[in-house]
Amino acid sequence: MKHHPLHLQTILRRKKIVFESNLLQLFDTCPHCAHPSQSHIVDKPNSGFGTMVRVEQRCMDCEFTRKLDSQPMLKQMPLGNLMLSASILFSGSQISQVLRMLHIFNVATYSRQTFQRHQNDYVIPTIINGWKEKQADLIAELKENQIHLAGDRRNNSPCHSAKYGTYTFIEQTSKKVVDLQQVQSSEACSSNACELFGFKRGVSFLTEQLTCRGLVTDRHRSIAAFIRDDLKVNNPMCAEMDHFNDVWHTAKGLGKKTIKIGTKQPEVNLWKKSIVNHMYFVAATAPKENRRDHLKDRWLSLDNHLRDIHENDLDLNPMCDHGHLLYDRNKEWFVRGTVGSAMLTDLLTSNAVVKDVQNLTPRFQTSSLEAFHSLGVRFAPKHIHFGWLGQLARTYLAAMHHNENANRMQAITRNGLPQYRVSFPKYKSGHQN
Ligand SMILES: [Zn+2]
Ligand SMILES: [Zn+2]
Repeated sequence: MKHHPLHLQTILRRKKIVFESNLLQLFDTCPHCAHPSQSHIVDKPNSGFGTMVRVEQRCMDCEFTRKLDSQPMLKQMPLGNLMLSASILFSGSQISQVLRMLHIFNVATYSRQTFQRHQNDYVIPTIINGWKEKQADLIAELKENQIHLAGDRRNNSPCHSAKYGTYTFIEQTSKKVVDLQQVQSSEACSSNACELFGFKRGVSFLTEQLTCRGLVTDRHRSIAAFIRDDLKVNNPMCAEMDHFNDVWHTAKGLGKKTIKIGTKQPEVNLWKKSIVNHMYFVAATAPKENRRDHLKDRWLSLDNHLRDIHENDLDLNPMCDHGHLLYDRNKEWFVRGTVGSAMLTDLLTSNAVVKDVQNLTPRFQTSSLEAFHSLGVRFAPKHIHFGWLGQLARTYLAAMHHNENANRMQAITRNGLPQYRVSFPKYKSGHQN
């Protein structure tokens, strides 16, 4: 049989599942002399056919013979096998499950070893090259402007003994992933140390080429210290950079502390949601000018509000923004002097919390990081262990998928106000139960 070069269209064309008995009906007669002919399916052990079927036909009358393959060949390799391997990876499936399913269906297939070979020799290198190319294009596009980054770490397995973690940077205007650093945890490297390590590697790679004007991270102390004492001092591409706290993590941290007080003072629990919402509210509404002072005064007004006092002696926020309160209240105002009230005041007005609030980002796109992380789970489920390259390729795939769809994501802001209430399930489950 003559070999034709493979066309993309051939590769992309639809495939079908074929029963052997139906297939053989096509070879009942000789195409040359039209007499009945013999045909059989070639079934040799270790043939490497996998999902491909080869039919040999021989006519006893005219000696006509032919051999037909059900798949195009790529250098002796049936293309469908390679494409099956790629599809398993692209869909975030597990090889053992796919092979079991095909076995139950009694579809001929290849071994796990063949899948591993396809993955290591072809699929993973292609994904890694693809990501590198896309990343270079994205960085070239971003070079014209000063960029705003948001960074966060994801553990690749549910427990803290995670074998790998990935530090991700998203460019906030385009909402695209610009860099990923996979870090291997070992006993010598704590989860926090790994986070700092991934952050450093990513930021130094990006700022070789891009000028960073703003950066949002969670409140990881060693990252904050590194940014302040090293990055801004020694890296000219970051000299003008502002570092902000991500609202999602900060609000979640405060919510946890509120719940802790609530275990002893249950009346506090009723206010947790309002406290967390207030944090989102001040972050979204504080003006740019004197932002830190505005954030502080807006935040501190909450302490009075909880006691039904809506006028304050705070310079930048003399009264609450909510106007007259009309709605039915399902919770009591706090009374000054009660234990719960005192504990809550201590928390809300503590230096640490006020400082965290003053550093809140005016931008909300860190939620695209959350969206990206939940997408990552689709390509690399957390309960499955993948090798270093398998994990890396799956994370790159998730990033490419995310970036292709980044512009289709729902806008976070409308008329300058955040729509965080409707955005992402993880946020909801964190705050609405
Ligand atoms: Zn014949
Ligand atoms: Zn108020």
